[in-house]
Amino acid sequence: MELLKLQNLKMYYGTLRGDVRAVDDISFTMEKKDTVGLAGESGCGKTSAMLAILRLQPPNAKVSGEILFQGKNLLKMSDSEFRKNIRWKKISTIFQGAMNALHPTLRVGDQITEAILAHESRSKQEATEIAGKLFDLVGIGSERLDRYSHELSGGMKQRTMIAMSLACNPELIIADEPTTALDVIIEAQVLKVMKELQEKLGLSMIVISHDLSMIAETCNKAAIMYAGKIVEFGGIVKVFTEPLHPYTQKLIAAFPSILGSMRELASISGFPPDLLSPPPACRFHPRCPYAMNICRKEEPRYIEADQNRYVACHLVSR
Ligand code: SF4
Repeated sequence: MELLKLQNLKMYYGTLRGDVRAVDDISFTMEKKDTVGLAGESGCGKTSAMLAILRLQPPNAKVSGEILFQGKNLLKMSDSEFRKNIRWKKISTIFQGAMNALHPTLRVGDQITEAILAHESRSKQEATEIAGKLFDLVGIGSERLDRYSHELSGGMKQRTMIAMSLACNPELIIADEPTTALDVIIEAQVLKVMKELQEKLGLSMIVISHDLSMIAETCNKAAIMYAGKIVEFGGIVKVFTEPLHPYTQKLIAAFPSILGSMRELASISGFPPDLLSPPPACRFHPRCPYAMNICRKEEPRYIEADQNRYVACHLVSR
């Protein structure tokens, strides 16, 4: 069943120097229980896409296109309807930077009950019981509900954020770099919790990360973003083992693997473009080893190259 469909979604930030085209005409569909990994270098538009879905964009951002959630276009909803019926209740988020995302002077349990009371008709006692169950579910233990964030370890803070995202029993969770700033052991524990919750609760998720191993571990689909565009989308195994787009190929080659042979890591030459004035036609052409004349003149169409496999590259579409 189709859960979320982005159709020609754009988000431009208006600045004195012109529009920064952070998200520029992206489309993909996810089904219920899908976990889509949104990957790409920093500044490629991943977080902006999340902000657009949650309608948390700053005032200078202009959003257009369609965000269809269970068939309803979220961009056509009033702010109050979105706040009342969608944000937290249907779509919630795990923000970047668990270390700083919690309120330092509020007990962590109160931060969760606050979210429940703001969106659901429950008594304080019911909300506290739910918060306790969520703390047990993510492995912190309900006895820590009355702690302050400085009394929790990094992994516990991140689990608290996960518990908070589950507070109103949402259908979709968007996790933005959920393990950044955690050490590898805690990261592995948090990933394990996320995987278990996905299976136990049948959650649908969008996981935003530049960490391909994390995406490989938690997702069944991958969307690769470059300079505000999705250049490749498909099942995780196909995208990671048989990447079609040169950028995906370079991204995967640049990632270290302890299972692979000892080799020098291949870096991607050059830098991501300035999205105030990105390169014309294919935005990856200044860095692409296969660039042809057409790549500098014509934008490649985003086509279905195989079943449920989409790519935007002249090498595939010609
Ligand atoms: Fe490279 Fe051309 Fe494909 Fe762009 S369209 S990724 S420049 S081959």
